[in-house]
Amino acid sequence: MQIKTIKVGYLRTNCYILSDEQTHDAVVIDPGDEADLILPELAGLKVHYIIITHGHYDHVGAIADVKRLTKAKTVWHEDNFLGQADWVLHDGDEIKFGRVTLKVLHTPGHSPGGICLYTKGHLFSGDTLFYTTYGRVDLQGSSPRQMSESLQRLAALPDETIVYPGHEEFTSIGQEKEFGTIG
Ligand SMILES: [Zn+2]
Repeated sequence: MQIKTIKVGYLRTNCYILSDEQTHDAVVIDPGDEADLILPELAGLKVHYIIITHGHYDHVGAIADVKRLTKAKTVWHEDNFLGQADWVLHDGDEIKFGRVTLKVLHTPGHSPGGICLYTKGHLFSGDTLFYTTYGRVDLQGSSPRQMSESLQRLAALPDETIVYPGHEEFTSIGQEKEFGTIG
């Protein structure tokens, strides 16, 4: 799986483009803003899904532009407040493109319907888990209790799993256990 990171918008949201390098099947995670930066990176790819980790504005701003160009299906969790997606996700669902399968982990706490996406070795964590910290739990729809349950769930993933958060730098499950962010 090839992973491209594009930092978009005023909050420098990490938009991820994941693709199977052989089949060129792809997905876009959190096209937050600046479609003009994202769209050129999609050339030659068959984008099947636009996956949204949670509904905050800095993760969703370029959905319409990416959809217009790619005709990809929008995908998010049923508790997300964005309204109806083309495909409404539930915990444990699997999103497949090329030879890649992403497993949906419902991880509320920062935002209702927040999800992380896991495939062996990689976790796309939205605003749930960051380098040395976790997402804010003082916003509308946040829940500190749910966040602590979600982080415990992530702590059960293999230590070597690389974490690709919604903002800032990459980390790993093992490193965040050492830092005491999770587990
Ligand atoms: Zn957020």
